[in-house]
Amino acid sequence: MALDTLAQRGTNNKGKNDFTECHVLHGKGTCKESMKKFPKKKFISQKLALALIEIAKEEGDKEMEKSYRNTFYCFNDIITDGNRAYGDHCKNRFCINCSAIRKATLINKYLPIVEKWEKPCFLTLTRVSFKRHELHKGIRETKKAFQTIFQRCQKRFRRNKGPKIVCLVSLECNYNPIKKTYNPHFHIITATKEIAILLNTEWLKQLKENASYKGQDLQVIKNPLKKLIEVLKYSTKIFTDPDMKKGKKKTSDPVVYAAAIHEIYKAFKGLKLQNSYGFSLPKIEKETKTQVIPKSDTKEWNYKSKLRSYVDTETGELMYKEKHLPSAKVEYLMNHQLNTTSN
Ligand SMILES: [Zn+2]
Repeated sequence: MALDTLAQRGTNNKGKNDFTECHVLHGKGTCKESMKKFPKKKFISQKLALALIEIAKEEGDKEMEKSYRNTFYCFNDIITDGNRAYGDHCKNRFCINCSAIRKATLINKYLPIVEKWEKPCFLTLTRVSFKRHELHKGIRETKKAFQTIFQRCQKRFRRNKGPKIVCLVSLECNYNPIKKTYNPHFHIITATKEIAILLNTEWLKQLKENASYKGQDLQVIKNPLKKLIEVLKYSTKIFTDPDMKKGKKKTSDPVVYAAAIHEIYKAFKGLKLQNSYGFSLPKIEKETKTQVIPKSDTKEWNYKSKLRSYVDTETGELMYKEKHLPSAKVEYLMNHQLNTTSN
């Protein structure tokens, strides 16, 4: 999505030499309701991006530094036409904004398929964690292990000795701040329970001492949409419980381990994190909508980090009221719980 401006001959016949300045708006834009989430989204995104830029800089990783910078400026200059907002997106997978857009597109693609499946199951496959220096290689090995299992099962299916593997697979990785380890794992939605049990068994056989029975989890899916949202979410956690406790046992405030997030995204570089096996996705038409709107019918805004708001570039008007700004809790977490120490 991009913004262009051009001078276009006016359509209201004021005379042959009447040129109206126009904006060319690409894409379908962001609705008002979604725009309400931007003060929080931009605040978290920019704070995290700044930390990641510093980490990449220290490592001399120019490419990652540039990507993080693009995320910092994602959807910074926008144009509104009274209903929707238009602007450029960084399209990085670590961008909170862009990954949410991607997730919505994938849900629209996968939901009609998963809803038709006989008895969809949700399977989590985990393995023994990696130390930081092992992560890059480890993630690739983990992906390869699943690929090997799939091919083995496919051969059996062709010989009529097993079910056809039909599933959606998503690779994620979280960081354990106590053990200082990284745990790549798969979230899988299978078409039947039989497939889920088979994959679970084969995973344990394939990984041997690197996976344990209790590290895996299998559930029958009651609400496909809810599970799809879970499977297609941001591919690593932004907020991690420093004590690694879950649910009600949580005692401390969550921490953002920026150096660990950097390691995970470096290791993910060049890899496809979502894969479908045994079924193909319908082609979804790419959004190519373009509109030409007179400048006088639009407003131009620029995001100001200090104000946590978009500001009208002409009038200085703030887009948001106080109640839409990031909460005190979010401010506290991003200002005081952002850890950049490398482990
Ligand atoms: Zn973005």
